[in-house]
Amino acid sequence: MSDNNHNNQSKKFATKVIHFGGEIDKQTGASSVPLYQASTFHHFSLEDLPDYDYTRSGNPTRQMLEDYIATLEDGIRGFAFASGMAAISSAFMLLSSGDHVIVTEDVYGGTYRLLTSILNRMNIETTFVDMTQFEQVKGALKANTKAVFMETPSNPTLKITDIGQITDWAKDHNLLTMVDNTFMTPYHQRPIELGVDIVLHSATKFLGGHSDVVAGLAVVATDELGTKMKQIQNGLGNILGVHDSWLLMRGMKTLQARMEHSEKGAIRLAEWLSNHPKIKKVYYPGLENHPGKEIHEKQSRGYGAVVSFDVESGTEAKGLLSRVKIPLVAVSLGAVESILSYPAMMSHAAMPREVRLERGITDGTLRYSVGLEDIEDIIQDLEQALY
Ligand SMILES: *Cc1c(COP(=O)(O)O)cnc(C)c1O
Repeated sequence: MSDNNHNNQSKKFATKVIHFGGEIDKQTGASSVPLYQASTFHHFSLEDLPDYDYTRSGNPTRQMLEDYIATLEDGIRGFAFASGMAAISSAFMLLSSGDHVIVTEDVYGGTYRLLTSILNRMNIETTFVDMTQFEQVKGALKANTKAVFMETPSNPTLKITDIGQITDWAKDHNLLTMVDNTFMTPYHQRPIELGVDIVLHSATKFLGGHSDVVAGLAVVATDELGTKMKQIQNGLGNILGVHDSWLLMRGMKTLQARMEHSEKGAIRLAEWLSNHPKIKKVYYPGLENHPGKEIHEKQSRGYGAVVSFDVESGTEAKGLLSRVKIPLVAVSLGAVESILSYPAMMSHAAMPREVRLERGITDGTLRYSVGLEDIEDIIQDLEQALY
């Protein structure tokens, strides 16, 4: 990295996350992005069209957020949506009736629901495959396949997909590639650098980081995709509101600091759990025995803040959930406070039990999203709850 290159691309992530372009308001010098809480914009001249005319189509506060995430992901253009699902469903709108898509089998529940109960009615066909098995991905290719949708690490068993390998193959077959990057965030993993076309986020999680905003983000790798996504965002109108855009930027500024702290805790927690006699299994890509560790390290700078583990039975899981005192017992993840989820009764409750078990999500599986508390307190809390 050369010192005389003033291009923001050359800056380290920690610098970019603060100096993203909105840290000083160009007009007033204000230290935060102004809230343009307006739905419409005056035409000062009918000859010279204004940059912004109506907030669904564009708003300077939302635009700053969209540029921010594009910078962090090293993409061409960003888009902010009302939720992670709004971002993901908008990306799928790039497909047309009759198209087929290959998707990670243990994809986020909402994405599964979108594909199997809504997009199927639009005649968009899906094949779910275990993406850790490249042969399965290749075997799913059909004449009408148009896209591959990856989520890595997957949820809650943290399976790792080789993004580069699948993306290279997808390019040979002219397939659009998408990655749900919610768990890693651009701090750890930047799929566009690996050749991916579209990166998606539930910004409700680590990017927002405070359990107070529901939001989604998308970043595209080319101008052509940017034009198409803009048309979809404006056409569907599922934009993120002005105030939530501002709140999200406020959260994103501390992304690296939060991720570093929580990840340190997660590594410690995963090791502690691995040595605990009451824990049957621990899922964390940083553990030596994780089957995807090597691939994960090739494509990510870290392991993240989510640790899943199996306490053997539903009775044990429920007992632990009733005894823990520190974490929020809830769906969601990626916040300043630790969040402990019970997939069997929360995120995966709608999945038939046999299918759930087939995917390794047992009645005893719990998912711990490590927050900013002291990790020794978290461990002590779990220790007392495991009895
Ligand atoms: C939460 C989540 C989503 C959905 O995001 P919302 O903001 O809840 O709509 C998508 N993917 C992953 C991996 C998630 O964790």
